[in-house]
Amino acid sequence: MNFHTHDLHAPMPAIINMPLEWLRNPAEASLRAEATYSVGIHPWWMAETAWEDLKEGLYFWATHPQVVRIGECGLDRLKGASLVVQEEAFLAHVSLSEQLQKPLTIHCVKAYDRLLALRKQLRPTQLWAIHGFRGKPELAQQLLAAGFDLSFGASYNEDAFHLCPPTRRYRETD
Ligand SMILES: [Zn+2]
Repeated sequence: MNFHTHDLHAPMPAIINMPLEWLRNPAEASLRAEATYSVGIHPWWMAETAWEDLKEGLYFWATHPQVVRIGECGLDRLKGASLVVQEEAFLAHVSLSEQLQKPLTIHCVKAYDRLLALRKQLRPTQLWAIHGFRGKPELAQQLLAAGFDLSFGASYNEDAFHLCPPTRRYRETD
């Protein structure tokens, strides 16, 4: 199972992250009948487009039966909109995930302290998974203890991967 990819033609089973264009203009999307998807507003997208302008597209797709997860969404201290804006958007994704009972796929760069604090504060019922996890074992341990699942891409820390229980780790091509 490929947990997270941006390749619209990825072989199944996989979860394909819907592209920005599909949120901007749902009429132009072409879903594959056999595929599953995730939908979210990537923090990088918010640098060029106000996330409120993509909200309608997000809400439209979130309820679609082929959409099985919300995300990727999240916090990135190196790229994208200001952290205040990113957090506002992230909170909207969390509500959507809880409301629709679809788990969350998270992009997090240099903002784990904030993410951990938010999870503690919000106490979500849905699973939260960090995609493309490359952190060290200490961080992995901290995230696992806080209830996060981890998804590993092409490059990752071997020790972090092995300390993650198989039921709580995924593989992805991104
Ligand atoms: Zn991605």
